[in-house]
Amino acid sequence: MAEKRWIPETLFDDLGFRMTYEVERVLYEMQTEHQHLVLFEHKLFGKVLMLDGATQVTSTDEFVYHEMMAHVPILAHGHAREVLIVGGGDCGVAEEVLKHKSVKRLTQVEIDASVIEFAKEHFPEFTKPVFADDRFDLIIADGMKYVAKTDRRFDVIIVDSTDPQGPGKVLFSQKFYAACSRCMTKGAVMVTQRGVPIFQSNELSVAIAGFRRLFRDGYCYVAAIPTYVGGHLAIGWATDNVKLRHASVKTIADRYNKAGRFRTRYWTPEVHVAAFALPRFIAEKVAKGARR
Ligand code: SAM
Repeated sequence: MAEKRWIPETLFDDLGFRMTYEVERVLYEMQTEHQHLVLFEHKLFGKVLMLDGATQVTSTDEFVYHEMMAHVPILAHGHAREVLIVGGGDCGVAEEVLKHKSVKRLTQVEIDASVIEFAKEHFPEFTKPVFADDRFDLIIADGMKYVAKTDRRFDVIIVDSTDPQGPGKVLFSQKFYAACSRCMTKGAVMVTQRGVPIFQSNELSVAIAGFRRLFRDGYCYVAAIPTYVGGHLAIGWATDNVKLRHASVKTIADRYNKAGRFRTRYWTPEVHVAAFALPRFIAEKVAKGARR
């Protein structure tokens, strides 16, 4: 029998660490105009999508990331009508956002049309409901250029980017956050994936310092996503409304009921509130950023 192919995640090569998947079957592989894309089947994780050597989505644990990126900012805000996703090509976050009745329009700005086309074929579970929804507005463009120029204003901005390499690098820059702050309504919130604090050690403090230069509140919340190895993923939080992350379980549960009480698998009102309780080593990184 031919030996099976193993595909490594190369994101932490500089730390001398790799997670490697044994591939059952490669479903698709290509070099897009912007990045290397590979989709394969894994016996535990189901379909696995990697971009430039970094895991993006797996069938088994996608719900954790997508629910926590969408429901936490929208329910913390309480009356989000205009939502912007930057990146998010697989449409997994969009699918969660559109479960909220309060959302009148969801704009998604994705740089790489081929990721969307590819998702339509291989992740119809995300793309079908999204493209069937009139509230969804897709723009193929660089997120940085879009937020720098648009006249539109958003209640929630979700930065569902790749890691800080390739086309995603600019989405981790201070000039990008400044451009986002320009197109946010009063009391709006921005969330952005900030990597795994135990590996990407300085990144979180730098991000928090940047948020605090632009917003009254810069913080993070956490979720545990098995294929984003390293324990907690930090999700950056930036807003001028300092009350947003202190809503009670009851307030969040009431808003969830009003939003339609759709089915979730990770997010609950209790998990929402608890996600802002940070393990000490992460809280210290946030505090370090706040002091800068
Ligand atoms: N859940 C994933 C994760 O954190 O690993 C990210 C999902 S999504 C596939 C990331 C998307 O961001 C990709 O489709 C990529 O093309 C897009 N992207 C990267 N840089 C971008 C930019 N400058 N503007 C807009 N989209 C960008």
